Amino acid sequence: MHAVTLIKGDGIGPSIMDEAVKVIDASGVKIQWEEAYAGLAAFEQFGTPLPDETMASIDKTRLAFKGPLTTVVGTGFRSINVALRQKYDLYANVRPAKNWPGVQTRFDNVDIVIVRENTEGLYAGLEHYLTPKKDIAESLAVVTRAGSERIIEYAFKYARDNNRKKVTVCHKANILKYTQGLFLDVAREIAPKYPDIQFDEKIIDAACMHMVMDPTQFDVIVCTNMFGDILSDLTAGLVGGLGLIPGANIGTDAALFEAVHGSAPDITGKNLANPTAVIMAGVMMLHHLGEHDAADKIQTAVEKVVKEGKFVTPDLNPQSKCGTVEMGNAIVAAMK
Ligand code: NAD
Repeated sequence: MHAVTLIKGDGIGPSIMDEAVKVIDASGVKIQWEEAYAGLAAFEQFGTPLPDETMASIDKTRLAFKGPLTTVVGTGFRSINVALRQKYDLYANVRPAKNWPGVQTRFDNVDIVIVRENTEGLYAGLEHYLTPKKDIAESLAVVTRAGSERIIEYAFKYARDNNRKKVTVCHKANILKYTQGLFLDVAREIAPKYPDIQFDEKIIDAACMHMVMDPTQFDVIVCTNMFGDILSDLTAGLVGGLGLIPGANIGTDAALFEAVHGSAPDITGKNLANPTAVIMAGVMMLHHLGEHDAADKIQTAVEKVVKEGKFVTPDLNPQSKCGTVEMGNAIVAAMK
């Protein structure tokens, strides 16, 4: 029995997380779900977006399965996603994007894993106004040698352990010579330790152009926090959209699994949200727990349902009348 803190989240979160829990439980793996709250839902219910009870649960389980959390743009409380990643030092954010059989996209053979530094960079949270009139704002990017070493090592080890051929560091060291320069220097120092893995470096703006011209030239990408955030939505778009892409947030002694997408207010309450991304985040979590058979069983079922294209949400098949719940049911049925 594995204990997992379950945070259903905001917007489409509860509906997709219910399907993910149903699918994971149907795989036969024994999970004791400890439900906890965070984000807007927690703020409205407990007056804080990150209640002590939620942290007490993660302190104990060291493992969370989380739906998307709403962070109001511009005002309001700080991102709870960023806060959780920093509190549990979940330094590696791993986001795989691969073509799915049955999902028509512009390119075939896309198979990219973004390894994003998750605790530093421009998301370090060091932002403030410099004047009482609030007409000058300043944000500080923090890049440390230790933080860069551990994420770049993680990317190369990930590549080696997962039979990958190449690691590309995407950076902006031509302009940000200290922060991005340090990250790039560390990548150049570490790369020779992995002679079996090809090393490449690309300036981030050029990398975006290359990615939409020929994404097959990318394999594992490592970058600082904000570039990874943006690039992973780009890679999601290449393989069929945000409804498909999972993410793992890995630390040395805690981990949190979630979809790459957010709380999707535009489709909340309409039974339209694709549960695949969070279900695949569940698959990553099961591999993390060593439950490889259950993970493979779920992945095979999801692939079958997506490939058939009948019981999928409209983001995958605009003709489909199937909703979140029906897609979850079809995945459970495909496992039998
Ligand atoms: P979003 O990812 O919620 O939505 C972007 C677009 O993708 C929308 O059109 C949405 O309908 C679609 N989409 C997203 N998930 C989908 C799914 N499962 N199935 C089908 N379509 C899907 O991004 P946003 O609208 O920019 O952000 C909304 C909120 O989510 C914001 O408050 C943001 O801060 C938050 N957010 C949270 C996380 C997280 O919790 N990890 C990640 C990103 C954004």
